[in-house]
Amino acid sequence: MLIKILLVAFLISISTVFAVEPDYQAIIDQAYDNYHYDNRGENANYIPALAQVNPNYFAIALITVDGKIYTAGATKVKFPLESISKVFNLALVLQQFGNIEVLKKLGANATGLPFNSILAVKLQPNHIGNPFVNAGAMATVSMIKGNANQKWTTISNNLNTYAGTTLEVNQVIDKSENETNQHNHAIAKLLEAYGKFYSDTSMAVDLYTKACSVDVTVTDLAKMGVVLANHGKSPYTHKQILQVNYVSNVLAVMATAGLYDTSGNWLYKVGLPAKSGVGGGILAIVPGKFAIAAFSPPLDETGNSVRGQEAVQYIANQLKANIFN
Ligand code: GLN
Repeated sequence: MLIKILLVAFLISISTVFAVEPDYQAIIDQAYDNYHYDNRGENANYIPALAQVNPNYFAIALITVDGKIYTAGATKVKFPLESISKVFNLALVLQQFGNIEVLKKLGANATGLPFNSILAVKLQPNHIGNPFVNAGAMATVSMIKGNANQKWTTISNNLNTYAGTTLEVNQVIDKSENETNQHNHAIAKLLEAYGKFYSDTSMAVDLYTKACSVDVTVTDLAKMGVVLANHGKSPYTHKQILQVNYVSNVLAVMATAGLYDTSGNWLYKVGLPAKSGVGGGILAIVPGKFAIAAFSPPLDETGNSVRGQEAVQYIANQLKANIFN
């Protein structure tokens, strides 16, 4: 009997020591193959320069909290962060103001309406919704300390620190958005009328747009995400980029509002905090384990990348990453 128990204990300890890592590369390659030919969706066309991007681009990256990188597809292609920038601007104001002030000023409730809804601004008791719809995201930028130049330096340094590299603004996208973002200016003015904007509106809208126009590759994006997966710390420099107790605040808003009005369906199916952008990027976080980023320009009606959602969902399923399971 004793021998039997010892043998079982020995086998268990052996299997823990030699626990095999999942074959991340094979799973990513399979996700790429599965959805590469999925032609559903359309590029964002309300931003003319985004409509021009090759809709066949498709790329995936997964980075583990120990810094290992796995990629597939068009990993060299750069695309604008768009709404994914909102995640890192939120992280920034959490550091500057703390989570109580941020909740009071920006809120954290899903709006149940499109990301650029004027109606939501009028209907919601706090008028803003949360930091990931345009209203809240522009208000977030309005909160960041300093004058226009200082704000931009802070925003871009913050993005660069997460990415671990110097990111550039895509000037073509920035110009295209600036020529067509009267709607966002209207939202900001409306918030100002409600006393819910914290700097000059056109300055903050310009900076918000510039942050949305920052270009990344899918690997840059996964590197930015893995900091959140790794409790706010870079796996490469070991620098604590975001104070650990704010990480869960960021992930909570990603879970409830990261994919706009389909965030509930996403959470139900995939069970991961994520954030999408109309540039075709999507970033999902598995706390303590890894970040998955995907890029493909064609979007569904809500504004989320079709191939990106499919790929992340497939990978999350294969890796049993649903945080509610
Ligand atoms: N810059 C875009 C906008 O404000 C971002 C929207 C998005 O990615 N959902 O409309």
